[in-house]
Amino acid sequence: MYTHLVTTPAVERFQESQSRRDASRAHADQTVNALSIDVEDYFQVSAFAPFIERSEWDRIPCRAEANVERILALLAENNAKATFFTLGWIAERHPGIVRSIVEQGHELASHGYGHQRASDQTPNEFTADIVHAKALLEDLGGVAVRGYRAPSFSINQDNLWALECIREAGYRYSSSIYPVKRDHYGMPDAPRFAYAALPDLVEVPPTTVELFNRNWPAAGGGFFRLLPYAMSRWLLQRVNRVDGEPCMFYFHPWEMDPSQPRVPGIDAKTRFRHYVNLNRMEDRLGQLLKDFRWDRVDRVFLRSAV
Ligand SMILES: [Zn+2]
Repeated sequence: MYTHLVTTPAVERFQESQSRRDASRAHADQTVNALSIDVEDYFQVSAFAPFIERSEWDRIPCRAEANVERILALLAENNAKATFFTLGWIAERHPGIVRSIVEQGHELASHGYGHQRASDQTPNEFTADIVHAKALLEDLGGVAVRGYRAPSFSINQDNLWALECIREAGYRYSSSIYPVKRDHYGMPDAPRFAYAALPDLVEVPPTTVELFNRNWPAAGGGFFRLLPYAMSRWLLQRVNRVDGEPCMFYFHPWEMDPSQPRVPGIDAKTRFRHYVNLNRMEDRLGQLLKDFRWDRVDRVFLRSAV
């Protein structure tokens, strides 16, 4: 009787689906995802722009250097490589950061020079910023810089001309269009996975999860600090297992720094988004590095080119 039970079509279907699920889990566990860090200091965050004048930047003590060193140590501990989208303004003042990134085998990429949103610039201003940053980083790092990320994912349907500028400046890929709908950024209809935005220019979107007919941000930033870690892990696993695609995750050095000075006078929403769970970030990142496999963006998404 028991033998008969275990061979019914329903049981066979169940066993098949289990083995398919196991195979897909195994696949997910082998997926190499892309890890990225946007190297800027806390006082350069776009949401603080109305509260901190650019002319003040040079007078504020820099914390990015020490925070990048902690990130590099955490990556080395976990045997992971990453891409550092580095701001030219920071690289120029702290070239040791650039040297450490390159020496430790990570990818040096560009976050532009002055951290102005692409959407606030003319094509000429934008081009001048990204050309200057690329030359500066290549000079300091002694390596070709092929990746660019616009500040605050500020490329969308209204300024797609920026992609042409990025290609003409000599970059091979961009990671600047977030396919979500948010108040300050996003292009919800853009593709969710890496695509040729132009001939010779790959766009690598930050990771989203498609649920209930819309895209939800799952690539890091404030959401990673706000959501319970298990939820973030589930979202990223879903991209590996259900979509069968690698993830593109990002964070900032200031997110590892709970004792950074508080910016006075900011509104409640900005305060919440910037400071929520900063003290949990280092532990969560450590767990993330253990739960997934991570590598540089160029090696994950430009395989034929490296
Ligand atoms: Zn940024």
